[in-house]
Amino acid sequence: MARAGMRAALHDEWMRRPSKTSWLSFACVALAASILSPARGSAQRPTSFACKRVLAQDGKSWLEDQFLLAMGTMIFQVRPRRDEEQVDVDFGDAWIVPGLIDLHTHLFLRPYAEKSWDEQVRNESVALRSMRAVRHAEATLRAGFFVVRDLGTEGAGYADVALQQAWKEGIVAGPELFVATRAIHMRGRYGPEPDDPKVEKGAQCVTGIEEILAAVREQQRKGAQWIKVYADYRNGLSGIVSPTFSPPEMHALCAEAESLGLHVSAHATTDEGIRNAIEAGAKSIEHGAGASEETLRRMKELAVVLVPCLTANETIVRNAGHSGPMLDRLNAAKAGFQRALAIGVEIGCGSDAGVFAHGENARELELMVDYGMPADAALRAATVVAAKVLGTNKYGSVGGVSGFIVLRADPWKDISTLRTPTAVYRGDERVGL
Ligand SMILES: [Zn+2]
Repeated sequence: MARAGMRAALHDEWMRRPSKTSWLSFACVALAASILSPARGSAQRPTSFACKRVLAQDGKSWLEDQFLLAMGTMIFQVRPRRDEEQVDVDFGDAWIVPGLIDLHTHLFLRPYAEKSWDEQVRNESVALRSMRAVRHAEATLRAGFFVVRDLGTEGAGYADVALQQAWKEGIVAGPELFVATRAIHMRGRYGPEPDDPKVEKGAQCVTGIEEILAAVREQQRKGAQWIKVYADYRNGLSGIVSPTFSPPEMHALCAEAESLGLHVSAHATTDEGIRNAIEAGAKSIEHGAGASEETLRRMKELAVVLVPCLTANETIVRNAGHSGPMLDRLNAAKAGFQRALAIGVEIGCGSDAGVFAHGENARELELMVDYGMPADAALRAATVVAAKVLGTNKYGSVGGVSGFIVLRADPWKDISTLRTPTAVYRGDERVGL
């Protein structure tokens, strides 16, 4: 059985979780996986852990005095610790939370404060950007993020599919990737130099339904798991943001994606752009600051998730020196987030890392809490809610292959503790990149 197949078998074992199953049956499968997996070293027995508090599977309470058993990449037992039970690693009076999920990253970008988006896309080779992306992935995992939805390579073509393949083969370390490849934008609306056809753009730029459908099919064929579309964007020199594709074009895009088994994530900041995207069938709205209350209620009705990317706004304002129209943008983002929160739109954690440094992803959770979201809900936004958006029950709770993070403080009281984990584990292995 191939390594990936064995991992799937382990996962299936975990998901069944019968009430009275001996850990031996899990251990047999885990042991086989360990032997078959050359990249995993020679661990021949499971490692046991104890911890005072482990976040419950639904993310809504803490399980006290817990015992964890892990082998290879798999945590196959989480249960109360028995009296005087010996363990290999005792985390004592700590808090354990599952590996986190960021629903909006750009591993092929580096902070704009180092080099502008325009210069990166225009002047840096895909090869160079790919090598940086490997380092970015490592930093992301080190920070406790085990899964990212990477929403567009911004001019680096299908390099994200290659990075994902390298991760699957054990060549590089990092989070599991859900990739969107090139993203789709309207011709003439995206940089660098929107109107110059000779310049390679930050997305696949198309005109009309025929080209939209061809782009969706091409991206799916080459490995996209999500279709990322720009539903609105700055228009010309005025800088005014307006919708890109018409409602029939958005409908065609979403229908084609759905027919290929893919979901659509839409960048949208205006009420009209958001409306067009959600009515067409987009599953998540990125940014979304300009949504009216009526549109937010419609999002809730359609179960569309808002991924606010608050950290991107904060970073852009900081880079601009905290003044002028940029500050208005930050205030608008905050107000939009608070409207969504009040109406009860489901909110997933997505930071837009790449605009700022990879590995700083937990800043998004701090901002969510600063802007009024309860810390336990913010943590769910980066675990169970994000896992639901990705359509996987493999991640989002402690157990299976999700990995875990050891914290020295209660994240429900101080969310910033996520920025300084005591340790990060994938299964029985401490992440020490
Ligand atoms: Zn983005």
